Amino acid sequence: MGGLFCDRDVEFVLCVDGRESRLCAKCHDVSLLYLIDHGVAATLVDTRRVANPSAGTTAVPAERTQLKANRSKIILVEDDLGIAQPLCRALVREGYSVSIVGDGPSGLRQAYVQRPDLILLDLGLPGLDGLEVLRRLRAVSDVPVIVLTARTDEVDVIVGLTAGADDYVCKPFRLAELMARIERAVQRYRSTRRWTKHVYDDGLLRLDSLQREACVAGVPVSLTTTEFRLLDLLVRHPGMVQPLDKILARVWDDTVGNGSSARVKFAVSRLRRKLDLTAMGSAPIVSARGLGYFFRPPAVPAAVDKKSPQPASYGHADNVLNILNARDRTS
Ligand code: CA
Repeated sequence: MGGLFCDRDVEFVLCVDGRESRLCAKCHDVSLLYLIDHGVAATLVDTRRVANPSAGTTAVPAERTQLKANRSKIILVEDDLGIAQPLCRALVREGYSVSIVGDGPSGLRQAYVQRPDLILLDLGLPGLDGLEVLRRLRAVSDVPVIVLTARTDEVDVIVGLTAGADDYVCKPFRLAELMARIERAVQRYRSTRRWTKHVYDDGLLRLDSLQREACVAGVPVSLTTTEFRLLDLLVRHPGMVQPLDKILARVWDDTVGNGSSARVKFAVSRLRRKLDLTAMGSAPIVSARGLGYFFRPPAVPAAVDKKSPQPASYGHADNVLNILNARDRTS
């Protein structure tokens, strides 16, 4: 007995920034939602169960199946069991460890609890819309997200991708295609983490995150801490639009949304002015019309380490811009 706030049985140990609390399931869920709502980084939160397996999720015992040496953890957020269950079985056959979650708030909560390698996210979800789940998740996590959508409208695709999805598939999808996309996203995520551990180098721009040094064509560029963090964030996600609230959270540690987009715009314009004085110019810092910004690296990167794959595709951001530009031309 004796959760911190009640007399129900202790089921979880919740650890926030090194401090542990023993909580019942209800207090645990409420506490986690509170932490998520207040933008507390997932890296500061750890939680483990002290009693029985969770009732809210369906953990699939992967041991029953012939496994590949894979074990990447996937959370499948999908309320339609007719889709979720067969997909889950297929993923387990491929060696993934899978949890099915049937609503938005649980999806967000499990993303914190389980620290998955990938999230498959349906957009039409009870409790919290998939796009809102994605938006909240992106303020604190870079985990790859593939959106499963029945909405083939290009507007939804744009919104999904600018809200931070790494990829999407439209229902009904072919299993083989989805598997390929999952594998690519997981590998890209791993290689990104390895590749950008602390040095980015595309042959023109070199960023050293440990030393806080930026060079263009071998010439040091003097950046303020804010400018460096901003450039570092954009460069780490080439071609992926970084939403304004994520930029505020990462560059200014402003996770409660008090910051204004004007602050971001001002910092971007200062950064661009400095880059204009270099061989790189400011063109690689691309504005996505009030949604955010992204970094467009050289088309054929003079990649330093040929063994490492290019860490991210930048087709999506270009796709978004093409659609926006086409719209501008016709209006
Ligand atoms: Ca749905």
